[in-house]
Amino acid sequence: MALIDFTDMGLYCAQGNFYIDPWKPVDNAIITHAHSDHARWGSKTYLCHHLTQPLLQLRLGNNDYETVEWNEPVYKNGVKISLHPAGHIIGSSQIRVEHNNDVWVVSGDYKMEDDGVSGKFEPIPCNTFITESTFGLPIYKWKKQAEIFNDIKKWVIQNNADQKTSVLIAYSLGKAQRILPALAETGLPIYAHGAVYNVHETLIKSGWNLPAIKRVEPDTPKELFKGNIVIAPPSADGTPWMKKFYPYSVGVCSGWMQVRGNARRKNVDAGFALSDHADWDGLLCAVKATGAEKVFVTHGFQSAFSRYLNEQGIEAAEVITDYGSEEEEIVKELANGEEKNSIDDQVLTTTEE
Ligand SMILES: [Zn+2]
Ligand SMILES: [Zn+2]
Repeated sequence: MALIDFTDMGLYCAQGNFYIDPWKPVDNAIITHAHSDHARWGSKTYLCHHLTQPLLQLRLGNNDYETVEWNEPVYKNGVKISLHPAGHIIGSSQIRVEHNNDVWVVSGDYKMEDDGVSGKFEPIPCNTFITESTFGLPIYKWKKQAEIFNDIKKWVIQNNADQKTSVLIAYSLGKAQRILPALAETGLPIYAHGAVYNVHETLIKSGWNLPAIKRVEPDTPKELFKGNIVIAPPSADGTPWMKKFYPYSVGVCSGWMQVRGNARRKNVDAGFALSDHADWDGLLCAVKATGAEKVFVTHGFQSAFSRYLNEQGIEAAEVITDYGSEEEEIVKELANGEEKNSIDDQVLTTTEE
């Protein structure tokens, strides 16, 4: 029997009687990170990294939480479990599971570049690696974070010169915290939507040192936004809530912005291809670094990525899960409820340019 099975509740370790990122309520859940597609409501116990716990508390309320430090082993029915940095968002962890000399690693979501807040991705040697593939197509190749931050700062400063508000669309957990230090360097006041503000408050309370932001209140005078910065989640884009920032320019921070067709849609004035997921080279590099002899590929472009691995002589298979990238929320918003572009559309749009 495999150490981890793919069940209709989630990734299950029968020997240890626990699930990793289950999408249905279970007795024992181990959580890679606090994004809503990985951390779901209703389980009896949750094991996670101590930095993830306050975020789960914010999202899921009171529960039976057990927390660990990275690299601190926990045993369940003789199965050794440990968490290791995944570099995706604050607290995000890969889960290493070991029994009878068989080692499996579940990546959760991850990225290779050290962003300064999420912890540095650590490759873990294993027999079997379960990897995500959100950006598992060769068209996805990220610029260095420092370069993207410079682009964002230039854009903000230009907007300020034009007396326009810079409205940055960024996911409330992860991207919003990641871009803050760069935004703070402009010296301009930073306002945030309530969803971003709540995560920020939670992190400050748990001891994070993040630049100060102000919450956008219904009675905040409009002129305070002029030429300054507003951070908003994808769900706020295009809603009446945005009217108070007029005149404004909208910048979207997402890996999907690498595909120009997405960045050209209405409502988007600037696209910044900043992602909390590994790009194509990052995924390949991570897979190779584990030395795994078997790879399972989950959410994203799993069929393209697993096919490529097999062609490279790395045994791989795709697995259908209930995980979806939080970044897809951005594409959905941009498409105004239409389906996300098909893979072919995305590839075509990019190669046209
Ligand atoms: Zn995630
Ligand atoms: Zn995910």
